[in-house]
Amino acid sequence: MTTEITTPTELKKMDPVFGQLSFDNHEQIVFCHDKDTGLKAIIGIHNTVMGPALGGTRMWKYANEWEALNDVLRLSRGMTYKSAITGLNLGGGKAVIIGDSKHDKTPEMITKFGQFVNSLSGKYITAEDVGTTTADMDRIHKETKFVTGISEELGGSGNPSPVTAYGVYMGMKAAAKYKFGSDNLEGKRILVQGNGHVGETLISYIRKEGAEVFVSDIHQEKMDAMVEKYGAKIYTGDDIYSADVDIYSPCALGATINDDTVYKIQAKVIAGAANNQLAVESIHGKVLRERGIVYAPDFLINAGGIINVYGEIVKYEKGEAMRRTENIYNTTLEIFSYAEQNNMTTQQAAMQIAENRIEQRKKENANR
Ligand code: NAD
Repeated sequence: MTTEITTPTELKKMDPVFGQLSFDNHEQIVFCHDKDTGLKAIIGIHNTVMGPALGGTRMWKYANEWEALNDVLRLSRGMTYKSAITGLNLGGGKAVIIGDSKHDKTPEMITKFGQFVNSLSGKYITAEDVGTTTADMDRIHKETKFVTGISEELGGSGNPSPVTAYGVYMGMKAAAKYKFGSDNLEGKRILVQGNGHVGETLISYIRKEGAEVFVSDIHQEKMDAMVEKYGAKIYTGDDIYSADVDIYSPCALGATINDDTVYKIQAKVIAGAANNQLAVESIHGKVLRERGIVYAPDFLINAGGIINVYGEIVKYEKGEAMRRTENIYNTTLEIFSYAEQNNMTTQQAAMQIAENRIEQRKKENANR
């Protein structure tokens, strides 16, 4: 399972469907369309060896349908790895709804989407993602039981972001231990890019521990709030990637570690919440390793959210979700040591361990 994103010019040479874009042994792709509500959605089921494919529904104004398909393929594959490395009995899936969540979303559209999810009889379980809300999940819940992240009043686990932030904090401490010899963040200079739901809670943890925190966000008011509430400092340099800090924490967008930034980064540790931080896993992960920068794989340390919603499937208990999330600290250290022993990047190490687990489970399933 090593396919990388494919460029459109390469498409002509390939098979018309499987083998295009980010297809990577995906089990099933479901195109959902409803003329009356205007719903156009794609559900991607990457792998169900470990359990039902759980992953959020993203509503986004994609430039075209290819972009939406590529996104759901990439995101659903990521969920397979995230759940496997975290030790959850879940497979990988994700859904996208094509449209602007602010202008195009209607209750009828979400209801219809819930009916499509229900038609898959539990092979795919949905949750909240960018462009969807807990209220949307509550609406979907009226149509199907195969939804998580519903509100606490309905017996759900509510907003997963604080748990995600706790996991990122644990991963960051493990990376600090590995790189600096101690997981104590006191006095460490940490840059948090993106001061939203996850970023804010992370900032509260690391400030409590005495780190010097620099913040960066496209919205001035979010940075101002971090200064006021937690005593953070706004990063004022020209280029955040060359910031003189110990730890860089990407908590905004994916692909911030790319050709333009990877050689500029001065931080010794990268640990953040954003999904798909490495623009090209095989290239940029390798450069970080060569430069001696410790990279905590994103899908490993941002798994607190999925751990939290997983609880809804088994039996939700906040303490148990936090305990499992705390274990991200140990798993991160295990991955670093596996990478070192096997002369590979931390991203490769995490992916290989996840793949081994899936293969092992496949054998066990076959012998049942
Ligand atoms: P959010 O939307 O609440 O916050 C994102 C923040 O990033 C916003 O404040 C936004 O203004 C800022 N931002 C956007 N572009 C930026 C840029 N170019 N530079 C600096 N800041 C920028 O999102 P969130 O829930 O905090 O999630 C943060 C990241 O973590 C996302 O990539 C998300 O996919 C990932 N993630 C979140 C969860 C979760 O439980 N919320 C779980 C796993 C992964």
